[in-house]
Amino acid sequence: MQCDRCGETIDPCDARVHHSEKLCDDCYMDVLSPTRICDPWAVRHAKACSTDETALTAIQQNIIKILTDTGGILMTDLAAKLNLKEKELERNLAALRHMEKIKARPENGQKVFCLW
Ligand SMILES: [Zn+2]
Repeated sequence: MQCDRCGETIDPCDARVHHSEKLCDDCYMDVLSPTRICDPWAVRHAKACSTDETALTAIQQNIIKILTDTGGILMTDLAAKLNLKEKELERNLAALRHMEKIKARPENGQKVFCLW
């Protein structure tokens, strides 16, 4: 069965009934907290999104692995190793830098990426 609010699949034994709605634990908590000022959905959504962001993609895991193995690598070399277009690599590097997983340091006038 599914939660009437978020549509999450729930075990019938775990379902909470609130008025006529069958709810999962989280939504049940939400309806029971009238003190919340902000939209609980917005908060839940933001949380879900930030969790997704911290989960590394296969490409990002590869980047981390290569940086671990090499101790630092030029973006062009990294692109060649991963067989990625630079644009796509840039996006992944930006995401990893944002998460403070990697950083760039200048070396001989070029950018070398290494672990944070
Ligand atoms: Zn729910």
